[in-house]
Amino acid sequence: MRYLITGGAGFIGSHLTDALLARGDQVMVLDDLSTGRHDNIRAHLADPNFEFVMGSILNEALVDDSVRRVDVVLHLAAAVGVELIVGRPLESLATNIRGSEIVLEKCHKYGRKVLVTSTSEIYGKNESDLLSEDDDRILGSPLKTRWSYSEAKAIEEVLAYSYWREKGLPVVIVRLFNTVGPRQVGHYGMVVPRFVEQALKGAPITVYGDGTQRRCFCHVTDAVQALLGLVDSREAEGQVFNVGSNEEISIAGLATTVTDQLGSDSDVVKVTYDDAYEEGFEDMPRRVPNTARINELLGWSPQLRLRNIIADVAEDIRTRA
Ligand code: UDP
Repeated sequence: MRYLITGGAGFIGSHLTDALLARGDQVMVLDDLSTGRHDNIRAHLADPNFEFVMGSILNEALVDDSVRRVDVVLHLAAAVGVELIVGRPLESLATNIRGSEIVLEKCHKYGRKVLVTSTSEIYGKNESDLLSEDDDRILGSPLKTRWSYSEAKAIEEVLAYSYWREKGLPVVIVRLFNTVGPRQVGHYGMVVPRFVEQALKGAPITVYGDGTQRRCFCHVTDAVQALLGLVDSREAEGQVFNVGSNEEISIAGLATTVTDQLGSDSDVVKVTYDDAYEEGFEDMPRRVPNTARINELLGWSPQLRLRNIIADVAEDIRTRA
């Protein structure tokens, strides 16, 4: 099979590229290298089963040609990371709404199955014990930039879902929760590579807010297995799936776990949300996925633990340095 991965030079997209090539499939990557990195796909450049197309999902003609030449599309290209979204809202909205619309239009035009990657930000401030796919979204004002990201991804989801319902396009929607691992970079806000990098340098670990906010971190290797299982499944079509870990930890707890595991003497410092992001920034106090749906369909559950994640991220940062 020939797959198009939009955003295939990015953190998750490049791991997906590795996995598809390893199982003998062909991969075309479409990436504008805005947050993706050439380094992530460099190992495949000479592989006849691999093709890299440099460009944006906002370039209609390029997306048209790319989708036409493949069997299946994995749509990962997006503006991600809270810092990027808050810093460049217009560009982020265009990529996440119009870009996704173009990808879906072309998938419909050529009848290509498409997997769309959404986000746990969809649930907003809903702090239920376990977030299930049909749970309500609780959002602040769209004028708070963080929530506009959630809105944009929700529009992407409903576009994808409507193509399935009204036009019969085979579509699978995946909501990724805090996915981390090698190749993720800290510039756009992601906490694990930031803390690991700070710990390795002996720099202060920057805990935002009071550090009681809780997250579950899923290793990218587990997330990629989930994406492959879902895109291969006929039964997954027309459905949305949470993908994430339920090993929960507070951000203050993460800071000490990282320093302990890496033997770092970094201090932990508290930074206010206003200083870290923007005035009036609202964080999610807690976010834990219910992954029963994917577990029932595929038997999927994460195999790797937080300590594996920290070890792999540290190894990656050391190798890149
Ligand atoms: N965070 C932090 N220090 C940092 C970066 C992030 O304390 O240097 C916090 C952030 O405020 C959030 C959590 O870590 O509460 C996870 O942040 P991330 O951006 O990785 O993912 P989110 O869950 O916010 O999408």
